[in-house]
Amino acid sequence: MKLWIGMDDTDSPNGMCTTYLAVLAMEELQKAGVEVIGFPRLIRLNPTIPYKTRGNGAVSFLVDTPELEIVMEIVDSTIQEFSELDHEDTNPGVVFVRNDDDILNTLSRFALRAVRDLVSMDEALFMIGRFMIPHLTYKKGRGLIGALASVGFEGEDFTYELLAYRKPERFGEEREINEESFFRADELYYPKTWDTVDWHNKAVVSVPNGPDPVLYGIRGSDFYSINKASEILKTEEVDRRMMFITNQSTDMHLIPEKEARELRNFHSYILSGLVVENPTVIRGGHVFFNITTKFGMLKCAAFEPTKQFRDVITKLVKGDHIRVFGSLKKDTLNLEKLEIISLVREKEYNPRCPVCGKRMESAGKNQPFRCRTCKTIAKEKVVEKIEREIEEGFYEVPPVARRHLSKPLVRMNVPKKHIFR
Ligand SMILES: [Zn+2]
Repeated sequence: MKLWIGMDDTDSPNGMCTTYLAVLAMEELQKAGVEVIGFPRLIRLNPTIPYKTRGNGAVSFLVDTPELEIVMEIVDSTIQEFSELDHEDTNPGVVFVRNDDDILNTLSRFALRAVRDLVSMDEALFMIGRFMIPHLTYKKGRGLIGALASVGFEGEDFTYELLAYRKPERFGEEREINEESFFRADELYYPKTWDTVDWHNKAVVSVPNGPDPVLYGIRGSDFYSINKASEILKTEEVDRRMMFITNQSTDMHLIPEKEARELRNFHSYILSGLVVENPTVIRGGHVFFNITTKFGMLKCAAFEPTKQFRDVITKLVKGDHIRVFGSLKKDTLNLEKLEIISLVREKEYNPRCPVCGKRMESAGKNQPFRCRTCKTIAKEKVVEKIEREIEEGFYEVPPVARRHLSKPLVRMNVPKKHIFR
């Protein structure tokens, strides 16, 4: 019998990673004669939800087994042994779903909602009750939501990530890597791999910080290039590696304007509008401005970590027609990408006095302009060209600021891309 096993919420800020736990479970299953089929899948859920786990990623994989019991037992003992059960916010959940089109179609809608919206524990339990899905829960069992979503991920658009894991005795120690080798791998395999490094900000972005088992993750569009790129990397010893199919770099979290009925916090959108006033920079280097949208006025932000992306934002002026991509939190849209549809290139001014050269004053509505000193009069405003330092097209945050789910411009089939690499 073919079964999808989905799991989530096994990690904590102190360690572990659901992808690693899934790899351990797959190994144990194979030892017991259970066949694991195809790539495991890593699905990133709604990045804005307040109770998310660290990477907010859930994992699923397909197995072929004569017996459900044995599979449940093995996964249970792996979770008991390796998940961060002592941490109060770690509430693992595992589901075992028959490879049945009816169930999977329903779960694919559930998955889309878990990425774009907020899904409650009750909704997850309803799915489990409706399809009689065998499952395991630990403590509050919140992980059931991500577990079901990871099984339902359809992968209309998907990318790959190769995750390399550390020797267990190295967990928590500083990661030993040769940074140059990561830049070299990017040089050779970009754009089939991306977000390995950030050249402008001089950072290796494919190596996490913190106590989890991941040594590095190489993202890309094809298995072969990712594998070749990883062969170049010089690092401490790699203990295990696994290639995942993921919804990373797909913009799956963004709700298109025409599908949105209102704007709500903890949701992510693509919205178009006109810039209301010139952006302002506040202390700490955060940039803010408002746009008009079909839902009303919307505050947008490019925070300090978005680095050189802010240099584009600060050059916007009142009247520019743009499209914004990002997540709404505290009634502010955190920008991930920007399309400049059209820039204002002309500005109306009061005419200059032909005698003294100063700007003339308006004497009121439908009245001519006057210079008080010289008593000159002019009828109409003058239109002058303004020089712009930016141009129409797409802009994005640099790799150091990229979210797991954000689609890098290098993956987008659009004209006039301004890529920060
Ligand atoms: Zn004058």
